[in-house]
Amino acid sequence: MTPKSLAAALTAGALVLSGLTASTAVAHRHAPPVKTPTAIGFGGAVASVDADATNIGLSVLRHGGNAVDAAVATAAALGVTEPYSAGIGGGGYFVYYSAKNHKVYTLDGRETAPATMPNNAFINPATGKPYNFFPELVTSGVSVGIPGTLATWDSALHNWGSLSLGKALQPAANLADRGFVIDQTFRNQTLDNKARFSAITPTAKLYLPGGDAPVVGSVFKNKDLAKTYELLGRKGPSAFYSGPIAHEIEKVVQTPPKAPGATLPVMPGYLTTADLAKYKVIKRDPTKVHYEGLDVYGMAPSSSGGTTVGEALNILAPQHLSKMSTPQALHTYLESSALAFADRAAYVGDPAYVNVPVKELLSRGFGAERSCLIDPDHALVKPLKAGSPDGSYSPCTPGVATTQRPDTEGLSTTHLVTADKWGNVVSYTLTIEQTGGSGILVPGRGFLLNNELTDFSAAYDPADPNRIQPGKRPRSSMSPTIVLRGGKPFLALGSPGGSTIITTVLQTLTNRLDRGMTLPEAIAAPRASQRNTATVTAEPPFIDAYGKDLAPYGHVLVPSGDALTSAAEIGAVAALEFLPGGGYLAAAEPKRRGGGAAGTVHQLWPN
Ligand code: GLU
Repeated sequence: MTPKSLAAALTAGALVLSGLTASTAVAHRHAPPVKTPTAIGFGGAVASVDADATNIGLSVLRHGGNAVDAAVATAAALGVTEPYSAGIGGGGYFVYYSAKNHKVYTLDGRETAPATMPNNAFINPATGKPYNFFPELVTSGVSVGIPGTLATWDSALHNWGSLSLGKALQPAANLADRGFVIDQTFRNQTLDNKARFSAITPTAKLYLPGGDAPVVGSVFKNKDLAKTYELLGRKGPSAFYSGPIAHEIEKVVQTPPKAPGATLPVMPGYLTTADLAKYKVIKRDPTKVHYEGLDVYGMAPSSSGGTTVGEALNILAPQHLSKMSTPQALHTYLESSALAFADRAAYVGDPAYVNVPVKELLSRGFGAERSCLIDPDHALVKPLKAGSPDGSYSPCTPGVATTQRPDTEGLSTTHLVTADKWGNVVSYTLTIEQTGGSGILVPGRGFLLNNELTDFSAAYDPADPNRIQPGKRPRSSMSPTIVLRGGKPFLALGSPGGSTIITTVLQTLTNRLDRGMTLPEAIAAPRASQRNTATVTAEPPFIDAYGKDLAPYGHVLVPSGDALTSAAEIGAVAALEFLPGGGYLAAAEPKRRGGGAAGTVHQLWPN
């Protein structure tokens, strides 16, 4: 099928999808830029959650930049327009396919625990008990890890880009300076954080001007961030990791500027200038599994994304989802992720501290051993035991007892994908953890610091691969993924959503690869997430569509969403598909998070 005929074939369906992006019925002083969730064209492509960011990425490509330049420029723009999900106060994982070398490379830019962070950092010395998780621990200096995002951008540009850091940051600096139009999602996210932000003086000043969240349709400027990006462009990352900003970060983490009368404790943390000076981005081999004739590449630990998505695909491989009825395929998908999550909990942590059996977790033998445990008619009783990725496999070996620990990962983060006319591809997930991160804004610099260290297990257990240790990277779920077919890019995708990132990427892949959906359909389809718990978290439309069919298997579906957020959505995918003949299908969410923004350099559809 040519891109053009695919464009025609997809037009009807995609128009229906884009129709779902109903604009909010608010009298706008300014209209936010139009978001196109699906686009088809040539010459390069970008998809992200935000129209300004996607447009900046496309503009970089149109001016001769490559996929890496565009990814950094898009990410920097997301630091302006999606400041509660991403920015230089956070970290992330960058996956890159080089068309020249036909190879996939990854960068681990995960936040890292300070050298002096004690094992009992989450225990309140006054009571001997763990701090209350939200909002107290989240909104504290204790939760702030050494940020890795700026170092990731610098390293990606240095290794594979063609622009200087300054050139890549300039469009985002301009955007921060001239401002962007506030949409309903931004306002909702600010209101969700009102109690936390109002406890911290610089944060309240920027994001709660006059005591309220910026109103929909107003233009929001972040002049301090514009100046910060310009400074970093001129001086390079050293201004952040060892220069004036390093001192300011240390100060704000160790003596958070509490608003007068605030009742939140906003405890001081451990991060120092010495920690910042030592921070290193780590180049890692990607994870790789073979699924349905494709090579699926992901992020190795410190993220659990690549091993868990990869193991689940190996568990699914012998099951042949494409031959199953929809309920059977969904049942099997849910069971595969429960099994993979049992192994994630038992074996995955920062490989500098824990011996993670990556090769065995991703071996076909282990996948087959685990796959055999799936009962085609009944959901297994959760939590499931972990398997033994020990190199010796026989089908249906029962698991070993392990401790299931509470899941405290936030539901924020953002994902972007870029591709250029040379065939290079980037799949990049970045975060500041919780929506709004720690809530601590660096005064005068316009960016929020992460609370990524709350991704360590809350209670300290020496047997837990994700226990707190000084200098360690907390286990992530971020799953930036690139799929090759015959050695050439076929798909690139990822999502936010804490530990549901893994199931969202897995479900989107199986929707596209096994269940006959186009990429936009695979993204729009309602989601469910089984992370080795007694019940399955599912979006209400999933429950409406499949609840009855899945009940006979014994799956108990509970609606997603929690008291902290105004949304009941799981994930927000941004993805690319590489079409025969050199075209691109760029696809983002039609509806979740207010819809995403996809575009191509020479656009065939919509035009
Ligand atoms: N902190 C999470 C992780 O690294 C991501 C948070 C999110 O997606 O909201 O996996």
